[in-house]
Amino acid sequence: MNQPATVSEQFDAVVVGAGFSGLYMLRRLRQLGMSVRVFESADDVGGTWYWNRYPGARCDIPTTDYAYSFDPELEEAWTWSEKYATQPEILDYLRFVADRYGLRSDVEFSTAVASASWDEQEGRWRITTDRGDEVSCRYFIMASGCLSVPKSPDIEGADRFEGQVYFTSRWPHEGVDFTGQRVAVIGTGSSGIQSIPLIARQASQLTVFQRTPNFSIPAHNGPASADRLTQLAEDREGYRHAARWSRGGAPGELTDILGITASGEVRRQRFEAAWEQGELFGILGVFADQLVNPASNDIVAGMIREKIRSTVNDPGTAEALSPKDHYFGTKRPCLDTGYFETYNLPHVRLVDLRTQPITTVTRTGIDTASESFDFDAIVYATGFDAMTGALAAVDATGRDGASLNEKWAAGPSTYLGLMTAGFPNLFMITGPGSPSVLSNMTVSIEQHVDWIADCLAHMTAESLDTIEPTALAESGWGQHVRDCGAITLYPTANSWYMGANVPGKPRVFLPYVGGVNAYRQACDDVVSRGYLGFRMTGQGGERCRDGVIRSMQPDVAMVLEIMAGMGLPPLETLPVADARAFMAATAAVRPPAPEVGEVTDGVMRGPGGDLPYRLYRPAEPGGPHPVVVYFHGGGWVLGDLDSDDPLCRDLCARSGVVIVSVNYRHAPEARFPAAALDAFAAVQWVAANAASLGAIPGQVAVAGWSAGANIAAVACQLARDAGGPAISGQLLISPVVDSDMTRPSYAENGDGYVLTTALMRWFWDHYADPADRGDPRVAAIRGDLHGLPPACIVTADFDPLRDEGLAYARALKAAGTPAGHIRARGHTHTSLTMVGVVISGAPVRAEIAEALRGLVGPVAAAADALTESAAAG
Ligand SMILES: Cc1cc2nc3c(=O)[nH]c(=O)nc-3n(C[C@H](O)[C@H](O)[C@H](O)COP(=O)(O)OP(=O)(O)OC[C@H]3O[C@@H](n4cnc5c(N)ncnc54)[C@H](O)[C@@H]3O)c2cc1C
Repeated sequence: MNQPATVSEQFDAVVVGAGFSGLYMLRRLRQLGMSVRVFESADDVGGTWYWNRYPGARCDIPTTDYAYSFDPELEEAWTWSEKYATQPEILDYLRFVADRYGLRSDVEFSTAVASASWDEQEGRWRITTDRGDEVSCRYFIMASGCLSVPKSPDIEGADRFEGQVYFTSRWPHEGVDFTGQRVAVIGTGSSGIQSIPLIARQASQLTVFQRTPNFSIPAHNGPASADRLTQLAEDREGYRHAARWSRGGAPGELTDILGITASGEVRRQRFEAAWEQGELFGILGVFADQLVNPASNDIVAGMIREKIRSTVNDPGTAEALSPKDHYFGTKRPCLDTGYFETYNLPHVRLVDLRTQPITTVTRTGIDTASESFDFDAIVYATGFDAMTGALAAVDATGRDGASLNEKWAAGPSTYLGLMTAGFPNLFMITGPGSPSVLSNMTVSIEQHVDWIADCLAHMTAESLDTIEPTALAESGWGQHVRDCGAITLYPTANSWYMGANVPGKPRVFLPYVGGVNAYRQACDDVVSRGYLGFRMTGQGGERCRDGVIRSMQPDVAMVLEIMAGMGLPPLETLPVADARAFMAATAAVRPPAPEVGEVTDGVMRGPGGDLPYRLYRPAEPGGPHPVVVYFHGGGWVLGDLDSDDPLCRDLCARSGVVIVSVNYRHAPEARFPAAALDAFAAVQWVAANAASLGAIPGQVAVAGWSAGANIAAVACQLARDAGGPAISGQLLISPVVDSDMTRPSYAENGDGYVLTTALMRWFWDHYADPADRGDPRVAAIRGDLHGLPPACIVTADFDPLRDEGLAYARALKAAGTPAGHIRARGHTHTSLTMVGVVISGAPVRAEIAEALRGLVGPVAAAADALTESAAAG
């Protein structure tokens, strides 16, 4: 054991922890020429692999991938013996690494960091340890692990038991011999599932106490995959590069096959292949939609449950072992070797705590609500205070004495999972808000360490010595992390990803689920944009480019990326007929739209001939319902009843109103003001025929999207001028209300977000002569805005039309017309309409439906319930 450090030693950097993170961080800091002290509470290196010595402890990412990649020579020097290496082998590897680079001399073992406080005057951290050391450093780096603080068993009487007690995460170094013993294992997470088969081999009786069954698949351990070894041998750097830019941190093909649309044969074939492969990323990626779509998830979950039933002989035990309370993957799934088979052994028994909860641990064993058990040993496999446990255990105070634990009382808040505002020069490795535990952690660790080291090198070069994120950047990142989680099924589970396993811990989805690749890109973009969102100070001056690195909804960004990859010709370069054909082809491959009560097509009379319409009636009984006359988008040129069919169905289902979608005349065949006149005529016709349409007379509202919102707005002005019909409200979704393209949103969003400035020009050219473009019958904002129906205006952040929508809302209000506003945060002009594709649009559409109900008057109570549940979803 080392001697305590001298009081008030000064270092450039202090690192907490000597696992994968701390060791590599130390090496990089040394390469920068910095003086470093690493504190490690264990008496050796290894971190996770030092502490977790329970029988069966192994990694669950193949070891070809779960290893350092920073030094090709290290890779040559070490050969893994198995597909999934055991704990002793991984610990040997980390010892080997420590020795190879001579790292131990800077590590203070058996010493826990107790507190850290920022000394504003000095611009340094003062660190104290549990051995009374006090040192100071400029940079304080928490490499303290995401799964390093065991969760204490919250079980009544736990300290009363007089037999042997073991924790999987603090296993005796000399091992444990259970031969002939009656053993209890509490917990069926990864550690329980790995250790139970091996404990069963020795124990005379094994009783497993299970609170929540977990999904597990066979690891099929053995030699490392020949295929992977060949790839590594042929192109190591290429292989590692692919891992760094993959979703999870290991190379692999991503499928675009959707579970909901795949045939039964494809589903079975893909599932069985993943089952045989025995890898987490494989079984988590059977279908592209399995972690976002409940129906798709159920397919995989159902097949795993089938496997459990076919493995476990006793049907009751099989049932109890089959997880049904969470979607597959939303809690960390496990890899096992003979786990479910173990329950077929005569001396192994499962106790399901959902049917017979533990009442207390006794001197001699465990009492449940219905039985008393005697044991020689109890093994707790009860998990960790994940991701924040080790950070919270250090009493950190930042600027103005602010406490980190107080700042995070409602859940952690970080910028990129790397730093947190108010705590300058404090870095976290794989902190909350980074991919961390959802990824192959060695890849994520190397990326964080490299980012931090590169940042410190940059600061040194620029004579800067303090770095801290801004509040804006941090809250923007937090929003992005939540947005990414919200489109998945992850937040639905009571998992340790959500902090749900620790009583009193705030329920926040802790890791970043957007992917290792997306995350790496965000970190790189922050740097290439001049360390966006960080404030750096020092002799070199003060630097701060404030901003938010990701503000688009993640699924919207994904759709744009896919579209960009398809190399589609810009619509405005096509002849009108081809553009229309393209739109129709796109509409044909959309996912199924929501069900409504009834859909009927009809024809109404318009000023220039018949106008086809489609009526959507809600499923709720108790009509007649109020009616909304809806106009589709498409720049007066494109679109029809089919193009906006999913949006109409969605609005109808959510709001419980009848929607009459009208196909008006299009340009260039019928130019300005044909579309607007048709819209007005359609409103007149619907108002006159409300009763025969099964709608409530006198409760007619108008709605539209894009150019459809343009003619809806104009129809309101025409109706007012004509003295009727009475329109109860107008819902304008991303409306065109002006021909002025100089508002800032054109400059910001005029390129790259589907509706471009060039396309808008094309639309205008087809619809209206330049001389007509200021006419209020197309530039609605230039009309008289007094006495119009109450409006709700929806604007999308990444829409060139955003600012004219906002301007219209302001102008209506200024004229005394009530106007509400819904902001589609992080959306484009088109993304809200992508029903069933862009999941993040659903809560916005729920808000729109709610507003629509307000614009049409009272509707059936069933619709309220529907909207509430949609909003909750
Ligand atoms: C059983 C198990 C299996 C795992 N398998 C995988 C896998 O297959 N793939 C994968 O990607 N990840 C796996 N993980 C996650 C694993 O934690 C990471 O892969 C990785 O080992 C983390 O390395 P680290 O250095 O960041 O943290 P750790 O290895 O946890 O090291 C942190 C160190 O910091 C020390 N420390 C903490 N606080 C203090 C303090 N205040 N003062 C001094 N020292 C302190 C701890 O003692 C610890 O040694 C597994 C985790 C467990 C528990």
